[in-house]
Amino acid sequence: MLKTEHICVNFGGIKALVDVNINVKPGNIVALIGPNGAGKTTLFNVITGFITKYSGKVFFKNENISYKPPNVIYQKGISRTFQNLKIINEVTIKDNLILGLLKKKIKKYYFKNFFRFDKKFRKEIEQTLDYTLELFGISEWKDKTPDEAPYGVLKYLELARSYLSSPALLLLDEPAAGLNNFEKEKMIELIKKLKNEGITILMVEHDMNFISSLADKVYCLNFGKIIAEGSYIEIRNNPEVLKAYLGDEDA
Ligand code: ATP
Repeated sequence: MLKTEHICVNFGGIKALVDVNINVKPGNIVALIGPNGAGKTTLFNVITGFITKYSGKVFFKNENISYKPPNVIYQKGISRTFQNLKIINEVTIKDNLILGLLKKKIKKYYFKNFFRFDKKFRKEIEQTLDYTLELFGISEWKDKTPDEAPYGVLKYLELARSYLSSPALLLLDEPAAGLNNFEKEKMIELIKKLKNEGITILMVEHDMNFISSLADKVYCLNFGKIIAEGSYIEIRNNPEVLKAYLGDEDA
């Protein structure tokens, strides 16, 4: 589903990514771990086109998508969520979801005709939104604005918005961050649901319990390099990974 070859990114003198090769199989959930500043978000930004100054190649479903801009990559079937939520605070939770439909359902009307949809079309959109709100367990918040909702609801909202764009590959940047244990359990169930629908997932995450519940494979980055790859158990016991997280002596 996704392959990167020899990705290198430099920010001034900082080598954020050094010869990064990853391979994500269709239908898998793959986790990307590593200490702060290891390069995880940078790799997400390369894959999704937010960074285009890099060397190396990115393949999505065997197509070379290197250096393409985010809108093109999104159209091809890659969606993402963000470490810092990207939500419109001035509109309701339900209206925030509409953005997820822009790719397919309402592309040709786009914003210009947004308020001129015919009744039948509006109804169809309403139904899709209501179904999705229900699926992600956030129906009761639909008429609230984001600042009136708990953080967990906003994380589910971002996930729901990505889901609505029918991605083949979904990139989740720290889906468990900021959630309490109850909310994390719900997030795990939601991600499993997406996997069951055939969506391939690559996620950056720090929470090891969360990863152990979901990941088919784990990559560990440190100082921009992949230092280990394997199953959760293999990674958990890998001395290089322990050293990267805990330092030499503690490891
Ligand atoms: P975290 O877990 O803290 O989110 P990360 O693994 O996602 O960290 P990145 O955000 O990818 O790490 O950062 C990798 C390195 O690149 C860091 O040294 C960071 O300071 C640097 N970096 C990231 N983005 C930029 C930028 N736009 N300009 C300059 N340096 C950057």
